[in-house]
Formats: sequence, C-alpha cells, structure tokens
Amino acid sequence: MKTVLVTGAAGFLGSHLCDRFIKENYRVIGMDNLITGDLRNIEHLFKLEHFEFYHHDVTKFVHIPGRLDYILHFASPASPIDYLKIPIQTLKVSSLGTHNLLGLAHAKKATILVASTSEVYGDPLVHPQSEDYWGNVNPVGPRGVYDEAKRFQEAITMAYHTYHGVDTKIVRIFNTYGSRMRLNDGRVLPAFIGQALRGEDLTIFGDGSQTRSFCYVDDLVEGIYRLLLNDCHDPVNIGNPDEITIAQFAEEIIKLTGTNQKVIYKDLPIDDPKQRQPNITKAREVLGWSPKVSRQEGLKLTYEYFKSLSQEDLFNSKHRFD
Ligand code: UDP
Repeated sequence: MKTVLVTGAAGFLGSHLCDRFIKENYRVIGMDNLITGDLRNIEHLFKLEHFEFYHHDVTKFVHIPGRLDYILHFASPASPIDYLKIPIQTLKVSSLGTHNLLGLAHAKKATILVASTSEVYGDPLVHPQSEDYWGNVNPVGPRGVYDEAKRFQEAITMAYHTYHGVDTKIVRIFNTYGSRMRLNDGRVLPAFIGQALRGEDLTIFGDGSQTRSFCYVDDLVEGIYRLLLNDCHDPVNIGNPDEITIAQFAEEIIKLTGTNQKVIYKDLPIDDPKQRQPNITKAREVLGWSPKVSRQEGLKLTYEYFKSLSQEDLFNSKHRFD
C-alpha cells in the first residue's frame, strides 16, 4: 500500500484529493493548520484505518515517520479575500512550506506534486493561457502575495527537480468549484449561491464583463491524479475551457436557484484579471485528460451541497471576513 501526504487536507481541494486517494486504496496522511480549512470536510475519513490527520503548519519543519511515496502540496489560502486577510501566511506557505515539503520529498525519495495556479499568468495579455506564457503579474499589488508565492513555488520545485533529481510535478489550477467550498471565502460561486439562499441581491464586481472558466472539482481531481502518475515535470494547466462572463454566470445562478433577487454592481477589486481561459492542449496530449462535467451539471450538484448546509452556516459565516 502506497502512502500519500496531502497538505491542506481540510480544505476544498485537499479534502476531495484525500477522498480520491482513499478510494484508490492509498494510505492517506492529511495535514492542515486549519486556518482556512474545516475539519468537517474530512470528518468522514477519521474512522478509516488508512487515514491519519496531523494538525500541523507546513511552514514549520515537517516530520513524517516511516515510508512516504507521494506528497501533494495543497495548503494555501486560495481566494482573494483570504490572501488579503492573511498575506504573510499566504507568502510563507508556498515558499517556506514548499521548501520544507521538497526537502521531505528529497529525504524520502517521494514524488511531490505542487498546486500552482492560473494566477501565475496574472492579468493575462495572451488568451487563452498556455503553459509557455510567462504572465503579467503585479508583484506589489494585493494579489502579489499569492501570485508571487506561487511563482516562487514553481521555481523552487523546478530547482529541486533539476539539482536534486526530485520527482516533481506542477499543476496550474484554473477556477474550480464544487462541494466544500467555503461560503465566506469570497469566491464568486459561493458568494452568488450564498446570496441567493439568503435572499440577498447578487454582487457583481465591475460591469460583469470579465470572464472566467469554471471546472468541476471531480474533473480537476482526475487531472491531478493523472499528472501525479505521469512523468511530465513541466507545469500543466488543468481547467475547463468553457469561458463565461461574470454577468452571464450571475444569470445562470439566478436561474438555477430560482431566486427573485436581482444583481447589484460593486467596485472591481484591484488587478482583477479581465479574462481567463485555460489552453488544455498539453493536458489532453500528455495526460489524455479533458473535463467531462458540464457547468449545468456541476452547478446542480454544487447547489445541492450548499442547500444542505445549516441556517447557521448560511447566516453566521457571512461576515467573518468583512
Ligand atoms: N466576483 C463578483 N462578485 C462576487 C465575487 C467575485 O463579481 O461577489 C468576481 C471577481 O471580481 C472576479 C470573478 O468574480 O472577476 C471571479 O472571482 P473569484 O474570487 O471567484 O476568483 P478569481 O478572481 O481568483 O478568479
């Protein structure tokens, strides 16, 4: 039985990855400092013999006894609201944290996959974004703490591969959605669905003409699983190229939820990318991967999840980051 360490295990993507590796019959060690993660996302795993949880901050030395085959580094705040609130931790987890985990991978002769992001492309001047585009990032803007930490993460990961021969993989994740997203993380999908469920107007930032391309979480997890077991060491985009404006997206959520609320307009955050769509040619060619779940289908499943949350979750979480 292979052992995999998942950092950020109590978060949105980390928890889905733990589920997938348990399903594939791995021994899973979940690690999280619970700053933005929620133990309820992995509560169902605690009773399993092959799951363990370490409450630990990966920016401190990471010790795992015994054999370790794979590391998936998914610890990081990942929404603009979170990383504006905790900018120093955001910088540290993808720099110092990644350094610790690369050291661990080196010592254990483990394969490590790090979660990078479409944010490395910044506000892109090339569309759609392919892996050979180097990006348009403002290092000192509010998003700089995330974008530059992730860019550093890619650089140090590649250096460990080149200089130490560590088996490394880099996934560039585009906007992803699904169950276990935090209602209050500020991302557009939980924001809109939360607003609809609370009977509030949907807040569009700017005029809503900016675009995003949303990938359902199960598709993303499949892409990551394939990349981990592949021998490609260069970054690979994983995302759904089906691009939509935020105004259209708000209309889809209004239709899906049947809310009578309208949309209202707020200021566009600084350095908010105007357009984003992954070029997934490489993922198709190297991994034989492409997304399978349509937005209509994925949104329905995700809405079911948010509907199942308690009133307390729905109302009390709202202002946590205000
Ligand atoms: N957005 C919005 N209303 C909200 C939250 C977000 O219009 O209540 C916009 C945001 O300005 C951005 C897009 O939706 O243009 C996606 O935002 P998100 O934070 O989900 O992801 P990112 O900007 O990192 O892609």
